[in-house]
Amino acid sequence: MPVIVAKKAGSCTAAGCGGRVLKGEYVEYSAATGTRHLECAGADQGMRPNLKAGTCRCGAAAAPREGSLVLKETTRGGRFVKRWLVLCRRCSGLPTSS
Ligand SMILES: [Zn+2]
Ligand SMILES: [Zn+2]
Repeated sequence: MPVIVAKKAGSCTAAGCGGRVLKGEYVEYSAATGTRHLECAGADQGMRPNLKAGTCRCGAAAAPREGSLVLKETTRGGRFVKRWLVLCRRCSGLPTSS
């Protein structure tokens, strides 16, 4: 993946990081994973909050702002395709006390 100089401040998308990316810092960038620290380049993709209702792979309904999204990367017809899949709270490993 290409290394670029960050044109604006943002946050690292790697799981377990989420730290600040500073303007002018060397980062690794790809359309699929976003901006990452160089040392985070090999880390798992971070979780995104789920903003739309959806259905988890386990069949449970996930309400908006519940659970998370995971990036699914596939290649179709030689083109890179990314889809966000909804995970319910349980499959996201989040507490289900509510
Ligand atoms: Zn990072
Ligand atoms: Zn689930």
